[in-house]
Order: sequence, then structure tokens, then C-alpha cells
Amino acid sequence: MRIFPARHARATGPSERAADVPAHVPCVIVGAGHAGLSVAYGLQQAGLRPLLLEQLPQVGDVWRRRYQRLHLHHLTDAMYLPGMHHGAQVPEYPSRLDFADYLQAYVLLHQMDVRLGHRLHRLTPLDTGGWELQVSVNHTTLTFTADHVVLATGPTGVTPLRPELKGQDHWRGRILHSVDFDSGADYREQRVLVVGAGNSAIEVLCDLHDNGAEPSLLMRSPGSWVTRQGFAHYHRLLAVGRWLLTYVPGAWLLAPVVLRLLDHYLKYDVRRRYPDLAALGVDTHPATPMLRMAQSRGTRPPTYIDGTWGKVGVTLAELLRAGKVTLYRGEIEQLQTDSRSVAFTDGRVGDFDTIILCTGFAPPTEHWQTFLDSRVSQAIAREMPQPWTEHAQFPGLWVALGGVATSRFALQILARRLAARIRGHRPPGRVLNPVVSFLLSGIDPGLIQIPRRTLIINTLAACAFAYLLWL
Ligand SMILES: Cc1cc2nc3c(=O)[nH]c(=O)nc-3n(C[C@H](O)[C@H](O)[C@H](O)COP(=O)(O)OP(=O)(O)OC[C@H]3O[C@@H](n4cnc5c(N)ncnc54)[C@H](O)[C@@H]3O)c2cc1C
Repeated sequence: MRIFPARHARATGPSERAADVPAHVPCVIVGAGHAGLSVAYGLQQAGLRPLLLEQLPQVGDVWRRRYQRLHLHHLTDAMYLPGMHHGAQVPEYPSRLDFADYLQAYVLLHQMDVRLGHRLHRLTPLDTGGWELQVSVNHTTLTFTADHVVLATGPTGVTPLRPELKGQDHWRGRILHSVDFDSGADYREQRVLVVGAGNSAIEVLCDLHDNGAEPSLLMRSPGSWVTRQGFAHYHRLLAVGRWLLTYVPGAWLLAPVVLRLLDHYLKYDVRRRYPDLAALGVDTHPATPMLRMAQSRGTRPPTYIDGTWGKVGVTLAELLRAGKVTLYRGEIEQLQTDSRSVAFTDGRVGDFDTIILCTGFAPPTEHWQTFLDSRVSQAIAREMPQPWTEHAQFPGLWVALGGVATSRFALQILARRLAARIRGHRPPGRVLNPVVSFLLSGIDPGLIQIPRRTLIINTLAACAFAYLLWL
């Protein structure tokens, strides 16, 4: 379905009442980001009505709080949740505000039961099965139980990683993390050192330049680069591929090969568009981008080398070619006492007013420790649950993680399995084991997991085809 939400309008649908939460519910989803909402959609399709808890005042506020320049990394066509496309007025790459409003409209359209301003602060397994939740609402605590709890509290952006810099206490400049960066306009005419080689680092750097600051970049490790255009083609092909996987006999056997070829294409596209990248001093990781992401279990996603969204904005390569950005490599050796100087491990020294750490975020387990019973959090620390299945040791605990595109694939598998569990049915079978499929695809485990019925259809069709040939 395609809807047309008013641009940047504030939806007011979800209830903020606490009093009417029942003493026991079959299923609670913690977090109303895209992951939580898409699991809720899958459950609603199965005739269930989960309760969603969201600590922030509005659905989408996670995105509204991010830096102004932010536009989603994939095309609008790939950035939708199941059951609702973006409005026609949303540009090729949705801005953070477009996406926040989209999430709000999604809740309204599907009439989801989202409790805003409800923060889960304690989650305890019950000896009798199920879970007890303690939830803070307006300085009071609400306690109730649930058979199933889905943690959709976000993979990133919760706990910023701030590396300790030698000498930081006596350094004269300002040090902040990318979560505290709002716009390059706040740094006009300042010398700013951006630390990192991920998407935030490149975008913050370009934004600083566009707003009249003097940015430098410290790249501590080689990047897994992709171009916006290359990745857009990749996503378009995947959309076709999913259809082929379902309806063309035997196509799923070829999927790993096709995905590997596409992965090589991503690398080739960077070389084709930016042949002088190495000469400009930008290092590239030897592995292909999606393979690297799979090998790092999703912690090293590809970085857009462009720094633009669509054709808008300046690119990192342009800035380097024009000598408008100084590139440092290695690490910061020391921040020098009572000065604004920074000494790098390669012996170079630079003066800066501000350092912006685009150094990423702690894994989600760190955030879960703030509300999980210690027994459970220790078990999870030993073995991270798979992001699309029930936790083996703690039945009824599910984890919903992944980028926006995941919401239509892996998270729908999760929803179907969860719905089957709630109804006491057997969960739908899959042909490929999730770990194997993740390693093969490197994108989304749901994308390449084939339902058993598809395999049966494929086999019957192949037999019929062979029989026709034999005749
Ligand atoms: C700068 C930046 C840019 C990004 N760009 C992209 C992109 O272009 N494409 C992409 O796919 N991904 C992008 N990401 C990754 C992005 O964070 C995730 O894709 C997305 O936000 C994750 O969705 P989610 O639903 O899992 O988590 P979130 O969107 O983080 O939602 C989790 C929700 O849970 C709530 N919550 C947390 N703890 C509790 C609690 N104890 N009680 C109640 N509620 C709680 C939070 O308030 C939040 O609303 C970006 C991340 C950053 C930091």
C-alpha cells in the first residue's frame, strides 16, 4: 500500500496511557523503531495484537535526534517496511525527518498499540515460564508479565564508543562523539578533526566543509567502500532476485554465486568511479564489502565513499583532490597539554579546535544490561542470541535486529515463527540454516532462507521439466 503522509507532520495516534496495560500479555515488543514495528506488522498479519513499548515521546524520535544532514543510505524504494511504501513526495534518498514521519504514519495506518514514554527498566525470567517486565512511565513503575518479549531496542546509536585519548583532560579543544553532532554550521571557520572511516565520519566531514569549517580526517583502518549508485543497483537487483528465488526452479542454488558476483561488482564500481582513491591516500580493505560485513557479523558495514545523497553534496574524493581536507592515518598518539595540538602515531602534528569521534557504538548487549536480569545478561554475553530466533536458553526471549531492508525479510520470518509459538503451532520450516545463509548472502539471512514449500514447488517443476524433455 502507498500512502502520502504530510511532510514532517507529527502523528498523534499511539496511546500514552499506562493504566490499561493488562496484568498479562502474550507478547511485548520493546522498542518502536523499524525493527519493532515490522515484527508487530508480521504478528498483526497473523491475527495477533502485540503491545509495543517505546521510551521516547514520539515514534521516529531516534531519527529526529540525529544530525541534520542525514539521509538514509539506500534508495527510498528499498527503505520501506512491509505493508507501506513512502509517499510520492519523498525524494530518492529519504531524509531522517522523512523516515521518522514515515514510521509514525506506519503506526497509525496499521493501528498499532504503541505505548509512548514507556521505558523498560527491568526484565526478569519467571520460574513458571514467561517474563516479568517493570516499566517506567511518568515517574511511576508499571509491572506486568508476558509470555514472549522481543528486544527491538536498536543495534546502534544507544551507547556511543568514546576511545580514551591520551592527554584529553588537559587539552584545550573540544571533544565530542558523532551522537552530539547536529550540523556543520556550528563549526564555521573551526579546524575540526573527524576520527573514523564509517558513514558518519564521511558525512560529518562533508557537512563541515559545506558549512565553512576546515575539516581533517583521521582514518584508522582501511574502509569497505561502496558508491551510492553501485549500492542502489545492487538493491534493485536483489529485489528482482527475491522474486526469482521464489518462482524459478533451482534459482536458489545459484543465489550464493550471484550474490558474490554482485559483491565484486560493488568493489569494481568504486574503482571505476574513483580510480585515484589509493593515490589520494584512502586505503581499501582487501575483502569485498558484503563479505567483510558477513565476516564481521554485521559490525563492519560498507561505507559510502561519496559522502553525498544522490547527486546532492560534495564527495570525499573531490575534497581530497582539491586539497580541502587533510588526511591522517594511524592513531592519535597524544593530545598535547594546554594546547590545541594533536600528535599522531606517524609523527605528524596538527592543530584543531574540535575533535569529533565517529567511532561507533557499543554492541546492543551493553544496552540490554541496563534492564536485563543479571543471569540472562551473563548468558547473553556468553552467547549472543540469533537475531531472528527465540533464545535457546531463555524461551520467550527474541531479538529483532538489522537494517531497514531486513524488516521485510528476516524480521518477517521472526514474526511468523513467533506467531506460530504463541498459537502453539509448529514454526514454518526453512531449507537453509540461518548461519549458513548469512555467510552465503552477507546481506540479510531472511533473503536467502527458502521456505520449504518453495523447494517443493521448485522440485516438482524441475521434475515436470525433465519429464517434458524426456518425452
Ligand atoms: C547516523 C546513523 C545513520 C544510519 N543510517 C542508516 C541507514 O541509512 N539505513 C539503515 O538501514 N540503517 C541506518 N542506521 C542504523 C540504524 O540505527 C538502524 O538501521 C535503525 O535505527 C535500527 O532500527 P531498530 O528498530 O533496530 O532500532 P532503533 O531505530 O534504534 O529503535 C529502537 C527503539 O527502542 C527504543 N528503546 C530502547 N531501549 C528501550 C527501553 N529500555 N524501553 C523502551 N524503549 C526502548 C528506542 O527509544 C528506539 O526508539 C544508521 C545509524 C546511525 C547512527
